[in-house]
Amino acid sequence: MNIKTLPLITIPVFLTCVIFIEGRIIHRNLIEIKTLAEAKTKLKNNIKELREDPKKYPIKNIKRISSSFGERIHPVTKKISFHTGIDIPALKYTTVISPSSGIVEETGKSIKYGNFILIDHNNTKTKYGHLNKILVEPGEKVKENTPIGLVGSTGRSTGNHLHWEIIKKDSSCYKDPEVFLK
Ligand SMILES: [Zn+2]
Repeated sequence: MNIKTLPLITIPVFLTCVIFIEGRIIHRNLIEIKTLAEAKTKLKNNIKELREDPKKYPIKNIKRISSSFGERIHPVTKKISFHTGIDIPALKYTTVISPSSGIVEETGKSIKYGNFILIDHNNTKTKYGHLNKILVEPGEKVKENTPIGLVGSTGRSTGNHLHWEIIKKDSSCYKDPEVFLK
């Protein structure tokens, strides 16, 4: 082979190799991006499945609501105050169920709510007050119908009932559960 024609052959061979390797890398990256996107969608769907907004009342076969959402005269303090939830009267120890799937964010005891539970759903959180007993722990996953507590009259309460709140996550606003469930 003539020494002068050597670069004429090696340069195209070299360029072909570079294009081939680059092509393989781009192809592999595209596959990785596609796999990542698929995994992300799957995860999003799983989270959505895990947390849904309330679809029903947290007590089965409720007869009535003893105090609606909105301004009212507080039964204990006798002062005008905004009722941030609804009161569902029920017998002591009636089972309170989760109205949809979610994750228990907080449980505790306060002067106002007595024994309470806060559940994180999809776009909302729900709070349960005046419980006799709490059956779940923070971090616990709950499904629709999971028993979470028993009705009582702890905290600022005049009788056995469940105080139930729905809170919008983006605005921290309380929602009227009767309107929300319609
Ligand atoms: Zn109440």
